[in-house]
Amino acid sequence: MRRTSWLAAVLTVLALCAVLGARHSFAKEEPRPVPEGAEFQRFLFAATLEGALEDGLPDELARVVLEQDAEGRYRNFVYACPVCTPVIAGLLAFGLRGEYEYSVKGELFFDTSRVPERIVAELRSASIAERRLGVEHLVDRWVRRRVELLRLDDAERALWRDAMERGRKKGMAMLEKQHAADGSGPNDDMETCPNCDGSVDAFGRR
Ligand SMILES: [Zn+2]
Repeated sequence: MRRTSWLAAVLTVLALCAVLGARHSFAKEEPRPVPEGAEFQRFLFAATLEGALEDGLPDELARVVLEQDAEGRYRNFVYACPVCTPVIAGLLAFGLRGEYEYSVKGELFFDTSRVPERIVAELRSASIAERRLGVEHLVDRWVRRRVELLRLDDAERALWRDAMERGRKKGMAMLEKQHAADGSGPNDDMETCPNCDGSVDAFGRR
């Protein structure tokens, strides 16, 4: 190769490095926009569906998480909470998998339950406060897994954590509003939302 061609090749590589380097530092300095709306919903929906599949959540435990009162209201979720809603949707989607496994006997997506014993014991407890703790620990685990999977950097984690905090704030306001004075509400005995707490805890306690 002639000397000028070598020089051109070296300059091209250097220019490419400069462009890639600039893009890289731009990506580090400018974290992704604040996650909210559909992106926020999708994150929790995906975390839940993926977490339940990865954990091979037994139907018996899924039913505990989605426990309803006599009027069909969820006992472990806050109605219209921005965190609870996509978690419910993820679990309902998980529950639909049996509908299209026409010729498959048993489970298609997992072989055994990987739900930690501590969480299984909490979900099987006779106390609803304990069961809600189990829900909180499951959601914490599932959101944590998704964060690891997406390889979010520190700035992105901070954005998501703040978004979860905002979601929890809205959820807590809903919960307070829904507490029935006569004790007839499904969450009258719920002090904090297990799904909101689990989602925030997944980013580490401050
Ligand atoms: Zn909630």
